[in-house]
Amino acid sequence: MQLPHLDWVNQDSPYLRQHRDGFRLLRFDGEMEEAFNRYHINVFMVRMRWALLVAMVLILLFAVLDAVSLPESVRNQTIALRLGVMLPMLFCTWWASYRKALHPHFQLIAGLCSLGCGLGVVAIIWIAREASFPLPYEGIILVTVFFYFLTGLRFVAASLCGWLIFFAYLMVEAVSGLSGEVLLYNAFFLGTANVIGSVGCYFLDYATRQNFLAQGLLQDLAEKDFLTGLLNRRAFSERAERSWRQAMRERQSLAVVMMDIDYFKRYNDRYGHAAGDEALRAVAEVIGQHARRPLDSTARYGGEEFVGLWYGLREEDILPILESLRASIQALAVPHEQSEVAPVVTISIGLAYVLPLPHQSLQDALRLADVALYLAKEQGRNRVVLKRPGSQGT
Ligand code: GH3
Ligand code: MG
Ligand code: MG
Repeated sequence: MQLPHLDWVNQDSPYLRQHRDGFRLLRFDGEMEEAFNRYHINVFMVRMRWALLVAMVLILLFAVLDAVSLPESVRNQTIALRLGVMLPMLFCTWWASYRKALHPHFQLIAGLCSLGCGLGVVAIIWIAREASFPLPYEGIILVTVFFYFLTGLRFVAASLCGWLIFFAYLMVEAVSGLSGEVLLYNAFFLGTANVIGSVGCYFLDYATRQNFLAQGLLQDLAEKDFLTGLLNRRAFSERAERSWRQAMRERQSLAVVMMDIDYFKRYNDRYGHAAGDEALRAVAEVIGQHARRPLDSTARYGGEEFVGLWYGLREEDILPILESLRASIQALAVPHEQSEVAPVVTISIGLAYVLPLPHQSLQDALRLADVALYLAKEQGRNRVVLKRPGSQGT
């Protein structure tokens, strides 16, 4: 897959790692596979529902055809199978497609439904053979092509169904005494349909995975800081604005935090820019580890400045988090001979603790956090300073 600017995606991006590791066996690692399952359902659900509706209509039409053209000896059993077994199975699968809780299992559900319908068609052929009615076997090829290419079943599920039905069909014909030559031809045709279906499904599955990774990579490119993997400033603003509005609705407090590495210019001058980049990455990792809840976010604001937002915490809960963050960065023990505050890299933290109100904005809170950060620098660096709206200092 050729994607532009892959070098500018954060190199720790899980999408990039998966892209580089490859996925020939059509399986991603751990959580990535779960995320792909959700993506697949979003992309294919409409198609799966349509396939189910089309299948139900076709079964009704075939039942009408059975009613007018089959001899009585097979008619009732065939119609009973179509309307009593296959149609309800399709309907249940269609119903299940609207139950979100069942979505993680939908490949299994749709796969079982396809298998059931395919075996139903095999059973109809069997009934016809028993009554010596020359029902054409092509129906089984139709079913095979249908669920390889229309149902949204993925490679494993579709191939399993296809080949199981293939063997079931051969067994039925063998038991019913179809002549060897004809059976061989039929097996060849149906087998070929399965090979075409399996290969097509493999490449479709592969391409869907490529699209999923491409989408993830583009999102990382747009939202993540290349060096540290934290959110970039634009993505942070977007999320923070959302959290701000939510906090206003739910009357929750927000901790808006500005962080800045101490004497970092001197660090670069002493250890070089590459070492500076490494230090930035290490610091960013610690910052990210301290904001893991869904509504919290941290970002690289620019240069060696970071910003964070913690949602709905009490003042007495956020202060220990930030204190732990500050201490953890010091505990990284990245040597910094030129710092006047410690022999290692440290960070100063300014906290604005606010209850969002209609006449305030996120920008006000960021400005307040910046004032707190300035105070932290002024008071000696490597510390956390809190400011509340309207307060003079800590
Ligand atoms: P203070 O304690 O007052 O914050 O001092 P400082 O030296 O950290 O402050 P200043 O804002 O003057 O310096 C920021 C430095 O951060 C300047 C620049 O060399 C460095 N810097 C900014 N972005 C990057 C980056 O992406 N990589 C590296 N290695 N250094 C960066
Ligand atoms: Mg600095
Ligand atoms: Mg700075």
